[in-house]
Amino acid sequence: MADAQGWIERDIATVWHGFTQMAAYAGNRPVIVERAEGRELIDVEGRRYLDAISSLWVTTLGHHVPELDAALRDQLDRVAHSTLLGNGNRTVIELAEALAPRVPVDRPRFLFASDGAAAVEQALKIAFQFWTNQGVEGRTTYLAFGGAYHGDSIGSLAVGDGGFGTDVFDPLRFPVLRCPTLGEPGAVDRAVELIAQHADRLAAVVLEPLVQGAAGMALHDPAAVVAVAEAARAHDVLLVHDEVATGFGRTGTLFATEQCPGVAPDLVVIGKGITGGYLPMAATVASERVWEAFLGDDLSERTFYHGHSYSGNALAAAVALRHLELLDEWDVLANVEARADQLGARLAEQVEPLGAVAEVRRRGLMTGIELAPPADGLRWGRRVSAACVERGVLIRPLGDVIVLMPMLTSTAEEIDRIVATVAEAIEEVAAAEPTP
Ligand SMILES: *Cc1c(COP(=O)(O)O)cnc(C)c1O
Repeated sequence: MADAQGWIERDIATVWHGFTQMAAYAGNRPVIVERAEGRELIDVEGRRYLDAISSLWVTTLGHHVPELDAALRDQLDRVAHSTLLGNGNRTVIELAEALAPRVPVDRPRFLFASDGAAAVEQALKIAFQFWTNQGVEGRTTYLAFGGAYHGDSIGSLAVGDGGFGTDVFDPLRFPVLRCPTLGEPGAVDRAVELIAQHADRLAAVVLEPLVQGAAGMALHDPAAVVAVAEAARAHDVLLVHDEVATGFGRTGTLFATEQCPGVAPDLVVIGKGITGGYLPMAATVASERVWEAFLGDDLSERTFYHGHSYSGNALAAAVALRHLELLDEWDVLANVEARADQLGARLAEQVEPLGAVAEVRRRGLMTGIELAPPADGLRWGRRVSAACVERGVLIRPLGDVIVLMPMLTSTAEEIDRIVATVAEAIEEVAAAEPTP
């Protein structure tokens, strides 16, 4: 069984895919990847797909990058993994040192995890214990935002705002204060008011700066982040920035927080692009002030009793370290700026004017194209994506929002191809709709 259909049958016989209805999986013509070159994935029948979603927002430079492959092989000749619980690893130290001057946190300390959700969970627990360690009582909840997504573990679900079929878990979510998404009129004032009113109950404010990715690329201005950060500081509430999606260049700067003048979060969560999309790694980055609140006697209750088996995996650290160097060596952020401008221009010419498009939202290379289907239940997002995949461009939608997340090293030709393909696919699906 070497053909795609054979592999799909083997797939459904043993593999359970996340965020995927397995009864419909095979019918949605999944791509079964065998290998990759650059920004293209190659399936089991040799068909090529331009990966326009960076493999769900993780891949930055490309697939099968010789320099990253070599870093991984070199580390393999030393050690694959050694625990960070009570002991250290040379490559992890080197990575933390390299990241330290680049993250938007004062004198940062890195607590590594394997996934974004786990690193968010760490941030929530650190923020909570930061207060109890100082004898402050009652700081037991968080301010979170409408449309927020922070991952799928129970704690990260609780600060997240539901949707995507996760409402079934509502009984498991712990209560948080919820402010409307910051892009909405009046939301910034509301956030500032909630922080002022409830500071003595709040361990932290948890925010995705500038772009709420999973909300379909909901945008807000740097000024909104600045206002929330100032209120948090004024009322002594910790500020947590979830940069899992926005980090590592997607919005045009290495971190979105850099675009928000004077904002210095107490905790920043990073993940997704940290290893260039190679290996599962994430981190909770704590400021010196937060870190100091955990110092005390050996085995004392001020210790952070939390840790994951694969925290600070050396293979992932080696790739992450080389990735950070390549971002500089290849001047990747300059390419992001040029490609983002081009992407914006092409979308304005070819996609925004389409009648089937309600709105295009973009910051840097993070893009959401909101479709305007004439009725509910038409699955336009799914169908437009399928039409793109048929044309060799891999897309995965969020409901009726077509998400474009081109890699940071994309060429001008690839950006043109992605936009032209999406425009064609939207027109095809809209044209197939019987006029009401
Ligand atoms: C993807 C994402 C997460 C969760 O990361 P995982 O590695 O999928 O657990 C958390 N926060 C944001 C903003 C994300 O986009």
